[in-house]
Amino acid sequence: MNEMIYVVEDETDILELIRIKLKAAGFKSRGFETAVGLQQIIRTEAPDLIILDLMLPDLDGMEFCRLLKSDPGTEKIPILMLTARAEIEDRVKGLEYGADDYLTKPFDASELIARLHAILRRSSWESSKNVLQITPDFLLDFDRYEAYINQKRVDLTLTEFKILQLLTKRPGWVYKRGQILDYLWGNDN
Ligand code: CA
Repeated sequence: MNEMIYVVEDETDILELIRIKLKAAGFKSRGFETAVGLQQIIRTEAPDLIILDLMLPDLDGMEFCRLLKSDPGTEKIPILMLTARAEIEDRVKGLEYGADDYLTKPFDASELIARLHAILRRSSWESSKNVLQITPDFLLDFDRYEAYINQKRVDLTLTEFKILQLLTKRPGWVYKRGQILDYLWGNDN
C-alpha cells in the first residue's frame, strides 16, 4: 500500500482534513492549492491517484481533468472529482471528461476512503490484467470468465458473469435494467 495521493483543493481546512483522513488510512499525500502547483511536478513525480476539487482559483477543475486525461503522460492517473456541485449534469460531464469517480461535498470521510480503494483496485487490475479481487475470498477472472469464492469456482452462466463484470466497473453505482441489457446485448435488440 502507501500509495501517493495528490489532493488539489484551495480551501485549506478541507485540504488538511482530507490529508489527515488519508494518512489515517495509510496513504501518503501531497496537497496543492492550485492546479498549476500540481502541473509543475506531475510529470516528474506522478501520484497513484488525484483528488481534484472542481472550483479552483486558477483553472476550472473540469477543464483540468480533461487536460490530464488527454495527455499521454498523465492519462492513466485515476482522478476522483470532489465538488459542491451536486447536479446530475455535472456528474455526467465529470465522467465524460474522464474522471474515474465523483464525490460531492459535504462528504463522509469513510466513503471517500472506500472509493479511493475501489478506484485503485480497478486501476491496478486494469494495468496488471485480468483478475479482480473483490474481497479476500471472492475474485473474478476476466480472461477465463470465471468467479471464485474461497478458491472454488462458482457455476455462472456467461450472462451472469457479464453482469458481475459490469457491476465491478463502477462499484456502488446503480444500473437500470435497460442499461444492463444494453451492456449485455447492445442497444439494438
Ligand atoms: Ca474550491
